[in-house]
Amino acid sequence: MISTELPVELDWQDWRSQLKHRITTVEALRHWINLTPAEETAIAQCVGKYRWSITPYYAALMDRDDPTCAIRQQAVPQLDEFRTFAGAEDDPVGDTIYRKTNRVVHKYPDRIILLVTQACAVYCRHCTRKYHTTDVNGTYFEQNEAVSWEPDFAYIEAHPEIRDVLLTGGDPLTYSDEKLEPILARLRQIPHVEIIRIGTRYPVLLPQRITPAFCAMLDRYQPVWLNTHFNHPKEITPEAAAACDRLLRHGVIVQNQTVLLKGINDSLDTMKTLLKDLLKIRVRPYYLYHCDNVTGVSHFATTIAAGREIMRGLQGEITGFAVPQYIITTKLGKIPLTEEWVQANEEGYYLENAYGQTLQLTEHGVST
Ligand code: SF4
Repeated sequence: MISTELPVELDWQDWRSQLKHRITTVEALRHWINLTPAEETAIAQCVGKYRWSITPYYAALMDRDDPTCAIRQQAVPQLDEFRTFAGAEDDPVGDTIYRKTNRVVHKYPDRIILLVTQACAVYCRHCTRKYHTTDVNGTYFEQNEAVSWEPDFAYIEAHPEIRDVLLTGGDPLTYSDEKLEPILARLRQIPHVEIIRIGTRYPVLLPQRITPAFCAMLDRYQPVWLNTHFNHPKEITPEAAAACDRLLRHGVIVQNQTVLLKGINDSLDTMKTLLKDLLKIRVRPYYLYHCDNVTGVSHFATTIAAGREIMRGLQGEITGFAVPQYIITTKLGKIPLTEEWVQANEEGYYLENAYGQTLQLTEHGVST
């Protein structure tokens, strides 16, 4: 008989223990949910193709019997990930086009991203960098994750126009404080780096990672901004709220980037509740991303019209600063999905960025 018991040695409050006991087998997953045959088949098809893993903390938020549960859909593999969609790409936003060193992606004049790692606590099924994080055969790294950081720092030093550095991944908080602190300290030695940003989903997927020691460490390298990624009101738990509170009390501003996901948060009521609940925990809604046409992710994409309808519904209905910017990320950069930048036409949408470059998109936001 298959055991569905929790490992006795799991320490719920310890993030390392949560990571060590991540759920990576059907047998372990059965402790939390009654899997559907389709989910079981999708998990079997992931072998040799896509990683999946779920922290016990995040698994505890899943509905045992409802496969449409918003948490479950984000964490448990689905057969739709293996469908082929027109125009889907491994890197539709062009991170690899703008890659300058193993870790530096320089897409905008005054800011860069640093790809810290490929690893995550949970492999979100909708990840925009699915090829880098979740695809077992994929990576955005030119060499590998372990090579020296000095060429990356040297690039930043040689470009005085870079004033904003975003640590992203994978999830940079998968690294221990001991591995992260030298990176922050080295960045702070570069005089023109004004702000450091961290993109992380740990407050949502494993809030125990946001320890007082971690927050105190960030405070030593201010100004540090942290962008996280709540997609659904169910994710705003007392533990997640406490993690955000710890960051805020250490002077780290926390903002949220939601991805608009079909069947998960593409209703006005759900979005309103999410945004209002974020204000209650003092997290500022920043972006609502249109879902990118990423290989293995396209099934989550709504139409742009559906996203705009939600944005219209929010206007005047909730506190002004609870309303995020609805954004599409393209190879030309991020573009607000407002009439000023994106106009409907016969083929879908015509878009122009701040530098006068143009793109034609389909109704789902796919570049043509
Ligand atoms: S934590 Fe972020 S980078 Fe990692 S799989 Fe989820 S969305 Fe992607």
